[in-house]
Amino acid sequence: MVLLRYLWALPYTLMGLLFVPFVILSGGRARVFRGVLELDGPLPAFWLRHVVLVRGAAAITIGHVVLGRDDRALAVTRSHERVHVRQYERWGPAFVPAYLIAGLWAMLRRKGAYRGNYFEQEARRRSGRGGGA
Ligand SMILES: [Zn+2]
Repeated sequence: MVLLRYLWALPYTLMGLLFVPFVILSGGRARVFRGVLELDGPLPAFWLRHVVLVRGAAAITIGHVVLGRDDRALAVTRSHERVHVRQYERWGPAFVPAYLIAGLWAMLRRKGAYRGNYFEQEARRRSGRGGGA
């Protein structure tokens, strides 16, 4: 069953893996922590600080890959980001469209696309903290 969870989330994990060579070549690090590949370093830090959709986040989950600004950010956001990993495993290829729809729905209800997003609320509830993205 573990294999199925990885296969179901694989399309997004593959997208996350595209970051690996760029993170490594720019002086960052990659390591596996409890079945999830965690990347951090200058490139993820720049990306998380400046790219519009994730601006200001400490970390972001893409399938079974988590990009964090640095080691501390990965540690602080780990429980929150692991809830997102479980969401990718549950929703598979439908996760990102579902996340975007939930964000739009939250925005229409004036709750904030991020704060009011069902998936972020679940991540906050289950992890007990705000997390990265
Ligand atoms: Zn989140």
